[in-house]
Amino acid sequence: MKISKIIIYDEPLVPEIQINKLRKFLQDTFHIDIEIRKNFFVNKEDSIFQEISTTRIFELKKPFSKHIPTELEIQMEKENIDNSQNLEKILYDGFEFQKIISKFIPANENDQRILNLVFTNKLTCTFDESDFRYHARALIGTNPAIISTTGIIEAPAKPKEYYLDLMTNFNNESEEKIKKKYKGKFLEYNDSRLSEVVEGYLLQAIVYYETGEPFCEDKECRLYNSHWQKELLYLQSNRKLCKNHEEIIRKIINQS
Ligand SMILES: [Zn+2]
Repeated sequence: MKISKIIIYDEPLVPEIQINKLRKFLQDTFHIDIEIRKNFFVNKEDSIFQEISTTRIFELKKPFSKHIPTELEIQMEKENIDNSQNLEKILYDGFEFQKIISKFIPANENDQRILNLVFTNKLTCTFDESDFRYHARALIGTNPAIISTTGIIEAPAKPKEYYLDLMTNFNNESEEKIKKKYKGKFLEYNDSRLSEVVEGYLLQAIVYYETGEPFCEDKECRLYNSHWQKELLYLQSNRKLCKNHEEIIRKIINQS
C-alpha cells in the first residue's frame, strides 16, 4: 500500500457514523494503523475559521469567488464545532475547503504515506462546468479526503415522486408529512444506516488515493458512484465489490 497509516478526524455531532465501528472495518479490510482524532477544527488557530468562511457559496450558478466573511460568520464557524446551529443552509466550495484543511494538517503528517480523512457535517459542493452550477458532494478526494455527512444525505437524489409530491402538494401536505410517506427510501439526518453507507465512501476515498480511479462503472459494486439514494442504500447494505475491485483491493493490501 502507498499508505501505512490512516488518520480519521471524527465529526462527533454525527454519532451515527459510529467511528469505532468504521475503524474496525478499515483495520479488518486493510490491516493498517488507524488513528481516530477529534473534530478537525478542535484546537486549531483562529485563522482557520476565517479561511473556511471564505469558501462559502452564495450563488449556485456562478463559479467560485472568494467570499469576504463577516465577523459573525467567522464566529459561527468556531461555534459549529460544538453545534450545528444555522449550518443547514450553508454551502461550501469543496475543493477550496479541502485546500484549507490541507494547509492545517500538521507538517509531519503531511506525508503521502499517511492518508488524512476528515469527516465534517458541513455541506461541500463542487462547481460542474457541464451544467454550470454547484452540486452537493459527499466525498472530496484525495489527501486529505473530505467526507461530508450532510453531502451523503443531500447529494444522491431522493425518488422523483418525492420531489413531485413536494412541488404539487406543498399547500396541502406539509413537508414533514411527505417525508413520512417516503420514510426509509432515503437517508435522513440521524439515520442509523449512515455507518454502513460511510464505509462505502471510505473505500472510495482509499481506492481513489491508491489508484487514481475514483469510481466503478459496475452498478452492483460498492464503489459505484450512486446518483440516487436508492442505489446508495442498496449497494451499501449489500456491501459487495465487483470482481475487479476485490482484486484491486487485494493488490493494494499486498503492495508495500
Ligand atoms: Zn467495482
